[in-house]
Amino acid sequence: MNIRKHIKKLFESLNSEERSLVLEELNIVNDTNNEPPKDASVDSCPYCSSTLLSKNGHRGVVQRYKCKACHKTFTGVSGTCFHGIKKKSQFDEYSKLMFEQYLPIKVMAKKIGISVQTSFDWRHKILSGLNAESKGFNGITEIDDVWFLYSQKGRKGLKYSRKRGGSKRKGDNKYQVKMLITADRKNSKDFSVTRIGRISKSDIERKVGGRFNKLCTLVSDKHRSISAFAKSEKIAHVNFKASEHTAGGEFHVQTVNNLASRVKTIVNHQFRGVSTKYLQNYSNWFAMNEERKSDENSNLKLQDEMKQNKKAWGVFTNIEGYYKDFIEKLSERTYRCPTKRNWSSAIQNKDVIGINAYL
Ligand SMILES: [Zn+2]
Repeated sequence: MNIRKHIKKLFESLNSEERSLVLEELNIVNDTNNEPPKDASVDSCPYCSSTLLSKNGHRGVVQRYKCKACHKTFTGVSGTCFHGIKKKSQFDEYSKLMFEQYLPIKVMAKKIGISVQTSFDWRHKILSGLNAESKGFNGITEIDDVWFLYSQKGRKGLKYSRKRGGSKRKGDNKYQVKMLITADRKNSKDFSVTRIGRISKSDIERKVGGRFNKLCTLVSDKHRSISAFAKSEKIAHVNFKASEHTAGGEFHVQTVNNLASRVKTIVNHQFRGVSTKYLQNYSNWFAMNEERKSDENSNLKLQDEMKQNKKAWGVFTNIEGYYKDFIEKLSERTYRCPTKRNWSSAIQNKDVIGINAYL
């Protein structure tokens, strides 16, 4: 009897529960086949950062570990954006497509053949892992803020649908979400959702403080908080009236203005508005694609970052918590109608995942 027939016969002799167990096991093997060995990179627990680990058998072909401090078990992908992903090849296809085009969640779901909810979760899992690195700035560095209307798009249970959007009032007001854009003339760019309302010196410090080379010249319009920030950071500052757009010569903010108008177009037109809760994730996406334009190794770097960043899953499962903190600490709005999703292995420890990316 050939082996194929033999396996078939064995399989047929199983009851339905045993059959589904076998299929599940085969799926795990299949999904993890094309992953590189992860053992080398497992040096700490994704849940509590402890380095006291022991090997704990295998799941399919994947080595499992157990943390001696918090007793949780995990694998090399735990904590990364691959955490809990069962359809690995579709997930790879999804992430590839994401970094080629800005497509709506529903369109992506259809293209890849997954549900809209899965499409939403995958998008934000991937984007939650892209804000790990704080880059330094060199030479002439431009800084400006871009405004978005406060949005609660998608939030259920709000009393009036009007409240999902912001105010129609023009000008700087309590509904304007400020994204700070900082960019030097090389390839260092930072997009930070900073607060709702007027930006202060300490907001700028919190987001980009300590990242300027002493030879930096900061260029901006006449924003008092930026002048105060440059002073405390002890870097040169050239500013000009907003209406004039330039202080002459190389001292202009065209780089950040250009980035600002493009990120605005993507958020407001391509995606027809993005909820404030996810605005930082969308700016991570935009930042990643901008960086990729001027770096030929960027695809490899991106894949590497996705595999290495063990905070992605923690950030993803805590976005609602970050959003609550953001609204309560950095706006005059009221946090309403919490969304509740339960993740069986959510990472609770904010010291492990860090809070800085979103606050
Ligand atoms: Zn642990």
